[in-house]
Amino acid sequence: MVKKLADANFLKTLNYCMKHSRFYQKHYRNVDLSVIKGVDDIAKLPFTTKDDIANFTDDFQCVDERSVVEIATTSGSTGHPLMLKYTKKDLERLALNEHLAFHNAGIDENDTVLITVTIDKCFIAGLAYYIGLNSVGAASVRVGPKFPEMLFKMAEVTKPTAMIGVPTYLDKVFDIAAAEGNEGVFRTVKKLICIGEPVKEKDLSLNAIGKRLSEKYNAGIFSTYGITELAVSFCECTKSRGGHIHPELIHVEIVDDDGNAVPDGVEGEVVATTFNVEGMPLIRFRTGDISFIVDEPECGCGLKCKRLGPVTGRKKQKLKIKGTSVYPQMIINVMESIDYVDNFVLIATSDTTLSDHIEVRCSLKAGIKDKTNDIKAKLRGNLKVTPEVILDSNANIDLIQSSVSKRKKTKFVDRR
Ligand SMILES: [Zn+2]
Repeated sequence: MVKKLADANFLKTLNYCMKHSRFYQKHYRNVDLSVIKGVDDIAKLPFTTKDDIANFTDDFQCVDERSVVEIATTSGSTGHPLMLKYTKKDLERLALNEHLAFHNAGIDENDTVLITVTIDKCFIAGLAYYIGLNSVGAASVRVGPKFPEMLFKMAEVTKPTAMIGVPTYLDKVFDIAAAEGNEGVFRTVKKLICIGEPVKEKDLSLNAIGKRLSEKYNAGIFSTYGITELAVSFCECTKSRGGHIHPELIHVEIVDDDGNAVPDGVEGEVVATTFNVEGMPLIRFRTGDISFIVDEPECGCGLKCKRLGPVTGRKKQKLKIKGTSVYPQMIINVMESIDYVDNFVLIATSDTTLSDHIEVRCSLKAGIKDKTNDIKAKLRGNLKVTPEVILDSNANIDLIQSSVSKRKKTKFVDRR
């Protein structure tokens, strides 16, 4: 059933692109499309990259300008921001995506949800959540990520049952509230929908920040992973065993460095094909994100589709330290798990010796003495290599975190 739906949607997408997309007409001009009968044949088509979208944005557009109702950009955290255009139907598809996500997470018209992510600045995620909450009939409270005091006030007044936010932000605001003896404003929150940063380990158990959030809020943690270019997010259901890949919205492949498919359970780059997109459909889009298809039977929620694991790294950010491959996220996970670390940032530079150099700058919580050796030992235990660890001031770390993008602070600064 899932396969049949995926086959039909894939062929529909391919036909649509050959009719309306100047990019795909050119991209596939030497491909014999008559042999493509379903998703099993998808590897016969070349990939689409972020550079393709950056260089030929207009050629991807399948509709005329009058049909465009929303123009968004990517955050550009691993390159230049890309511009994406959506039609009315594309926004309905986005709403369906989030409708399915919230429905499977058990959120409905009985819920009141605090949205603590950005809803303006040309971001699509906040908007997608908003229209998805509308679609399931839940009440949205759009406080955004800037004003903790407003968040506390609105939490007190509206008694939210769920919150949507970036894990480190949800962690921070809870601490601010607790420092004022005010954490009771979150007592009604039973679910946290986490975006932007992973809250799961590879074995799908909660990682350090996931555990911390679950304990502080005494709430269920739902991991979601969204990709602006694909106008899709993969959300976990109440069974918490990976983000569902809905065959009416998207097809996902996982490929190795040579572009060949890897078996379920094996990590590789996420490559995806959008279904039922009108404005800028994408076929075999290389996301640059590293993840895997969960190699387990159905999760038990009733959905038959496969599930995507947490993002464990970004292809572009892969570091080679003395012959060992390390993704920044692995270091971030370790640093997040150390309770006396206040803030940190990773800086990668390139050595002359084909090896990358990584420096972890961190600040420690008040009253904690130098723990550099302890941090090094923890990193070595998890990574098998030891990055340089330097203690620094919060102000300096903050400055480095904001040096890449004005829109988003980052824990990883790539200077290679
Ligand atoms: Zn499920």
